[in-house]
Amino acid sequence: MTVPVSDMISVEEARERILSYVNRLEPVRQPVLDSLRQVLAEDIVAPFDIPPLDNTAMDGYAVRAADTVGASPENPKELRVVADLPAGAVLDMVVMEGEAVRIMTGAPIPPGADAIVPFEETDEPLRGPNEAPRRGSTVRIFKEAKPGANIRRRGEDVRAGTVVLPAGRVIRPSEVGVLSSLGLREVTVYRRPVVAILSTGDELTEPGQPLEPGHIYDANAYSVAALVKSYGGIPKLLGIARDTIEDLTAKIRQGLDADMLVTSAGVSRGDYDVVKDVLAREGEIAFWTVRMKPGKPLAFGAFTAPDGRRVPHLGLPGNPVSSMVSFELFGRPAIFKMLGRSDWERPTIEAICRDRVENHDGRRFFARCIVTRGEDGRWYAQLTGPQGSGILTSMSAANGLAILPEDRPVANPGEPITVMMLDWEHAP
Ligand code: AMP
Ligand code: MG
Repeated sequence: MTVPVSDMISVEEARERILSYVNRLEPVRQPVLDSLRQVLAEDIVAPFDIPPLDNTAMDGYAVRAADTVGASPENPKELRVVADLPAGAVLDMVVMEGEAVRIMTGAPIPPGADAIVPFEETDEPLRGPNEAPRRGSTVRIFKEAKPGANIRRRGEDVRAGTVVLPAGRVIRPSEVGVLSSLGLREVTVYRRPVVAILSTGDELTEPGQPLEPGHIYDANAYSVAALVKSYGGIPKLLGIARDTIEDLTAKIRQGLDADMLVTSAGVSRGDYDVVKDVLAREGEIAFWTVRMKPGKPLAFGAFTAPDGRRVPHLGLPGNPVSSMVSFELFGRPAIFKMLGRSDWERPTIEAICRDRVENHDGRRFFARCIVTRGEDGRWYAQLTGPQGSGILTSMSAANGLAILPEDRPVANPGEPITVMMLDWEHAP
């Protein structure tokens, strides 16, 4: 029996129903570097100024700008070098008229000085390798320095007391850097969801084991686990459940300490699919046909864990491409919501079709494609090969999914098409 298109639910409807079952997880305190792609659960307030002192942006000489007025290569100003100041050191002497301090990038500006003359504007580069001016010798200045030249001001990056990173901010490498610059080793973020992953099917063999006749290797558990990781969750692999009530029930129970359970296969209308029966018996479950291709059958529900928590369950279709595309569309938003993120929508671009893309059954078609920029500067989308939902290599060759909406049966070469970019974090 086929389900009429009118009885199917849309991708958006399925997503909304799923999201209504998942919640942001609790805040945890953890090392800064472990928090990549998590969301700050606290405002980060600067305890001090950054930089903490005025310091030099260049290797050069700290001088009184007034002493350099009129300096040029023809008419250099000669100053007495009174100290040599590496980064990390402070000087408590005052730079007096006619004096200069040799100073390295990052070192605090000594009192009395109000400008930095870079080495390039002095006679230092003209000297031999061991003849740099030292304390007691002189340096010739070839260019007038304006007051403040090459000085990084105290607090110019961050002012003490200000919110540097607000709660809700997603942590990227630059946030890791900012947190570390404030001296922090730990940060409060919303916990990463643990996602238990179970493959079902008598025909499946674990990678690494010899392949038995009639079997295929379990691809879904690993592709989905990789997606979970890439979205910021923690996969927990439960292995393969055979299509028996006992095995399925036992394996599902092992997954109930997770924040979400994902199963693959056994949700379509096959004769041997006992998965549905077990799911219905063990938890609350709905079987949907979603108006999409690949990935029409989808199960969603919840189990009650021994500790009383309700664990959402996403039942993916078995075909490897359907399973990945469904997890992209439904699992990703769920993981993001648990992480406290709302930016789960992938960037889309408008591209020109290179191939004819067809879809006549009224479902939204997500066609695996590779997007490249043409010589004319426009984006072009080319299908990556046969679009059967078992052909995983054409998923691997793709960097996007071209979307043919429910009401558009054909996109011809040369026509525009919207592509959801899978590899891009952000719009170009
Ligand atoms: P099913 O939903 O059980 O009817 O499975 C649909 C198709 O997906 C069948 O051809 C299965 O062999 C295949 N399949 C199911 N699970 C996996 C898996 N974990 N890895 C690769 N292929 C699978
Ligand atoms: Mg099966």
